[in-house]
Amino acid sequence: MDSEIRMKLHINDTFNRELPADPILENTRRQVKNACYSFVTPKQTVKPELLHVSTEMLKAIGLTEGDAKSEFFLNVFTGNAVLPNTKPYAMCYGGHQFGNWAGQLGDGRAINLVEVEHENQSWTLQLKGAGETPYSRTADGLAVLRSSIREYLCSEAMYHLGVPTTRALSLALSGDEVLRDMLYDGNAAYEKGAIVCRVSESFLRFGNYQIFAARQDNDTLKKLVDYTIKHHFSHLGEPSKKTYLKFFEAVLNSTLKMIIHWQRVGFVHGVMNTDNMSILGQTIDYGPYGWLEGYDHNWTPNTTDNQFKRYRYGAQLDIGLWNLYQLANALYPLIDEAEGLESILQSYTEKAQSQYIDMMRSKLGLFADDNSDAELIFSLEETLQQTETDMTIFFRSLSNFSKENPSEGLKIVKDAFYIPTDVSDSVRQQWTVWFETYAERLKKETRSSVQRKEKMNQVNPKYVLRNYMAQLAIDDANKGDYKLIDELFQLLKKPYDEQLENEKWFVKRPDWARHKVGCSMLSCSS
Ligand code: AMP
Ligand code: MG
Repeated sequence: MDSEIRMKLHINDTFNRELPADPILENTRRQVKNACYSFVTPKQTVKPELLHVSTEMLKAIGLTEGDAKSEFFLNVFTGNAVLPNTKPYAMCYGGHQFGNWAGQLGDGRAINLVEVEHENQSWTLQLKGAGETPYSRTADGLAVLRSSIREYLCSEAMYHLGVPTTRALSLALSGDEVLRDMLYDGNAAYEKGAIVCRVSESFLRFGNYQIFAARQDNDTLKKLVDYTIKHHFSHLGEPSKKTYLKFFEAVLNSTLKMIIHWQRVGFVHGVMNTDNMSILGQTIDYGPYGWLEGYDHNWTPNTTDNQFKRYRYGAQLDIGLWNLYQLANALYPLIDEAEGLESILQSYTEKAQSQYIDMMRSKLGLFADDNSDAELIFSLEETLQQTETDMTIFFRSLSNFSKENPSEGLKIVKDAFYIPTDVSDSVRQQWTVWFETYAERLKKETRSSVQRKEKMNQVNPKYVLRNYMAQLAIDDANKGDYKLIDELFQLLKKPYDEQLENEKWFVKRPDWARHKVGCSMLSCSS
């Protein structure tokens, strides 16, 4: 079986073959200079146990469900066996955390195993939580079950929602116990350790480039940028100053596109530090993320960010630009001319505004040209925030609205209101006006209402990984019951389908979850 899996995986390592390595092989914490990564061996675990495997990702890398049942698979994807002739490594990167330059960060608890190729796609397989690395700083290199379930379920759910994201192959228990102070309040406790195998074409982040610019190591910076273009942006051509600009523009466009998707589905990343921004414009590092329940531009799931709410839902597009400025600064030494970078950066705001409006138009089922749409959208956003209104239920229900009966509008979306009695007369009046304007606007559409409904339901998901749903799966898993992980995993594969048998998940957040840790309050301690 071992050799069968080895034969099936078409290993083609490039990152740790083409780029400079840290010459020190010892696994000690240190500043790593002039190198893109350090070789490191994952930690042996006490009693690894596979909890879930993504059949789709197995197939994507060329393996079968049968392969995933083998001891060898379990050992490789929990770090207990290293694939022959491969050299796992942790990447060196820096980053701005909450607006401040933090210096070297790096893969403190992620270890890249190998790059594989299958059906013309290359994938890097990376373990998260497989032990310490030279970048672990003061932490242990491990991950706990709760955060691993959240990452495993959410990254696959995001993919099926059509949001660019890293993927996940497997979720396993390490068998080790991990000490965590979940709320940073001095109450540390042991939790089950877990390991997720994440998968992406590349795990490069803005911070990978920033670290070399910060250290004025232009030589390694150039090597890394040229490598990135060669392997991930080859359509842009041979590296040159012009290509670097095109590269930056491509990153700007994909980053923007990703955040527009976040806004569409109500996803709040929670920690948009530059070390958590993928160079491929993929959602990466699922930490204290959350889903909007009540539609609220000020909401953030991250309690660590509660005071300033830097990474709140309504700020994500602006933060994207802020982060792109930092990437531009990092690339500047290779281009040596600010103008080109500046003009690309200046294009962001206009692109963001028009893409945001287009995205919201699609959520409302508006296709005909009409320049009053921005106004309709802003007044909707304002009205939605008057009383706690569930974003997912509101938009999904809105596809049942009939332009012939605007007075029925409130009835159609009534399930979205958390406390129906909170909808005051003046808010009711605001809704009435909004529904009337919306009905008038719909009259300009040529599509039938059946077609509109179908289109709207393709962009307004019925099922998202609500914060309390992940928490229910975590609570069960902590008691040794893993069924709900699979139930949610299957549910979220088809987030736009009606799935009438799963109607129980198309409900507002239950009241018990309103202030519960893990549901509305999350920290970076994972
Ligand atoms: P994050 O906020 O999860 O993106 O992590 C920021 C930095 O802290 C990254 O360099 C991580 O690798 C590192 N880090 C987070 N958790 C751990 C941990 N348990 N052990 C070692 N490093 C960690
Ligand atoms: Mg991170």
